[in-house]
Amino acid sequence: MLNRKSFLQLSSLGLGSLYFSKLNAATRGGFKPIVISTWAEGINANKAAWEILKNKGRALDAVEAGVMVTEASQNCCVGLGANPDRDGIVTLDASIMDENGNCGSVGAIERIKHPISVARRVMEKTPHVMLVGQGAQQFAVAEGFPLEPQKLSDDAERSYKEWLKKAEYKPVINIENSGQKGHGPFAPTRFDNGDWNHDTIGMVALDAMGNVSGSCTTSGMGFKMRGRLGDSPIIGAGLFVDNEVGAATATGMGEEVIRICGTHLVVELMRQGYKPEDACKKAVERIVKKNYERAKANQVGFIAINKKGEYGGFCLQSGFNFAVCYGDNNNFMVDAKHYF
Ligand code: ASP
Repeated sequence: MLNRKSFLQLSSLGLGSLYFSKLNAATRGGFKPIVISTWAEGINANKAAWEILKNKGRALDAVEAGVMVTEASQNCCVGLGANPDRDGIVTLDASIMDENGNCGSVGAIERIKHPISVARRVMEKTPHVMLVGQGAQQFAVAEGFPLEPQKLSDDAERSYKEWLKKAEYKPVINIENSGQKGHGPFAPTRFDNGDWNHDTIGMVALDAMGNVSGSCTTSGMGFKMRGRLGDSPIIGAGLFVDNEVGAATATGMGEEVIRICGTHLVVELMRQGYKPEDACKKAVERIVKKNYERAKANQVGFIAINKKGEYGGFCLQSGFNFAVCYGDNNNFMVDAKHYF
């Protein structure tokens, strides 16, 4: 047992954070403030969120600022540099939810760099929750968001041309596990060079005041049908927050997540007393129970935090990881446990 005196000694040797990492591995958290987000891109996103959280900022501001980093990265899974739909056009989905149950989202928005900020404006400035397509873009422009050029990034263009050779339209989601290189329709992997391979960043945070918020932003599945919306802009599917309980977000095959109202389910399971990881696991089991074959062919990952600052994640297939941050020197990846 580590008492206060020995902890102070460890700290003076610079080993305090090491102890906390070990403690964390055993207990899966219990820290405030804390932020977690999906995939390796989450490390940079967490950094931006942490700057706000450590200065006693609001979780809502943290989760917006965090995922904006990923949206702005042209060489990434999210934002305007990402894969287009099968007609060659990048369409983006995003959602955000605060500690008061307020929420906003945009679906299939084009030529806007920061859909998450438009989602926040929908939440704060309209009587609605969701705006899609042309209307969402019109609202964004009226709010002063610049219209970016309609142009694929070099990487996305290369990827799209490759896809067009076969133009197959079937889900290929479990890239991490299959060893398959390159890209397919619905594939979260785009290139062989390992630069990135996922299409969504979801982030949930607990701030110093004890409030929870979340955000989720994506280009959706690469080479999706034009007009397709995934789980990410749907409150209760890709993102859900309840300040009495905690928050959850999702990545992977959005259709599977929507079918079980995934993140709402995770939060309700935490309300019943399940720890975040167990709640995520139960939700994954629900997907499997509904349709074993479909679940086996797909990837879905959930992550969640509760009001105590405990965190967890669970997924269908191996390969899903998430970034956890509760200190300047505590921002690290965790491999989620998996069903298959
Ligand atoms: N969940 C996203 C969607 O279905 C995609 C992903 O997370 O890779 O649009």
